[in-house]
Amino acid sequence: MADLSFLDNELAQLNEQGLFNTIRTIGTAQGAWIKVDGRKVLNMCANNYLGFANHPALKKAAQAAIEEFGVGPAAVRSIAGTMSLHNELEEKLAAFKKVEASISFQSGFNANVATVPTLMAADDVIFSDELNHASIIDACRLSKAKTVRFSHCDANSLEERLKEHAGARRKLVITDGVFSMDGDIALLPELVEVAQKHNAMVMVDDAHGEGVMGNAGRGIVDHFGLHGQVDIEIGTLSKAFGVVGGFVSGKKKIVDFLRQRARPFLFSSAVTPADVAACIKAVDILNDTGELVEKLWNNSKYFQQKLRDLGFDLGVTVTPITPVMIGDPNKAKAFSRNLFENGIFGMAISFPTVPKGKDRIRVMNSATHSREDLDFALGVFEKVGRGMGLL
Ligand SMILES: *Cc1c(COP(=O)(O)O)cnc(C)c1O
Repeated sequence: MADLSFLDNELAQLNEQGLFNTIRTIGTAQGAWIKVDGRKVLNMCANNYLGFANHPALKKAAQAAIEEFGVGPAAVRSIAGTMSLHNELEEKLAAFKKVEASISFQSGFNANVATVPTLMAADDVIFSDELNHASIIDACRLSKAKTVRFSHCDANSLEERLKEHAGARRKLVITDGVFSMDGDIALLPELVEVAQKHNAMVMVDDAHGEGVMGNAGRGIVDHFGLHGQVDIEIGTLSKAFGVVGGFVSGKKKIVDFLRQRARPFLFSSAVTPADVAACIKAVDILNDTGELVEKLWNNSKYFQQKLRDLGFDLGVTVTPITPVMIGDPNKAKAFSRNLFENGIFGMAISFPTVPKGKDRIRVMNSATHSREDLDFALGVFEKVGRGMGLL
């Protein structure tokens, strides 16, 4: 047996620094009120923006798909054939996103890992926002391309980097659409303009924008009216779409090439028929009506305004993501514990997910919350904030 004592030290260190993450256990379906560690609490953590994770129509579609197609896809699509359902989802996503084509993957993480190394290699340069998601960072590493970071949301900084690497074979600018920890958004029109000037492709990871931003949740490209100008959009089906999976949308050429060469497509099985059928239903609902997206934004605006009125610092958010800044890992943990004791599930987020000293409670708004739910939450935030001397 190898000596594993180094892990005792690593774990002890995490504990000492207040960075050991204890994962709570959920005993019910997702929704506004859930049972966590045996206790009924108001859910303010989930990325279930629209309530699709436990939506009756999605559940029904998933059940019907199990009856018709069974529970598993039984192999990778490129070897053993693809189920018609997966193709249908991709066609519906492409139409919804107003792009030429879409391809689905097992997760948003995998969509990034599939895309970047397929398009970029050793002679190429990737220009990556310094706050990009971990899955983008890993995807860049896997590609072996040189990766240079530009200052967060800063088109001038991007342009400087592009000038420094003008001789690269291929150039790809990558940014999160919505930044998941701060809730700010990429200034896509400026980035696109600079990228086009320097003949660089643009890729936006819109995991927190799909189902949230734009007309009926068509995403950040739709929000800015940039259809046709962004080469690659990465989406997830696990957040607003409420299920699991990821997808890439864009020019048919790019999607065709991913279908030939993307390793997570070629070497890992697709998500199950039930997942896909539920996702198709989510797209159908959003195609019918933006009602849930509207409710999400109304809830967010109300909740954020009231928290700011109470004196909480919400940073720079312009989306339903609501960081309540605390600034110290142990205080953030204590705040989360106090919320829980008062009936609210809101988790503390610390390093390495956010920089040291930027510890926070990240509140996720949702269309599942009623006005009474939000008022209840506001009362608890006020009580805990005062109790801890933060207000
Ligand atoms: C959540 C997230 C992902 C990962 O999506 P999954 O479908 O959960 O794998 C990728 N990129 C960004 C920006 C995200 O926020």
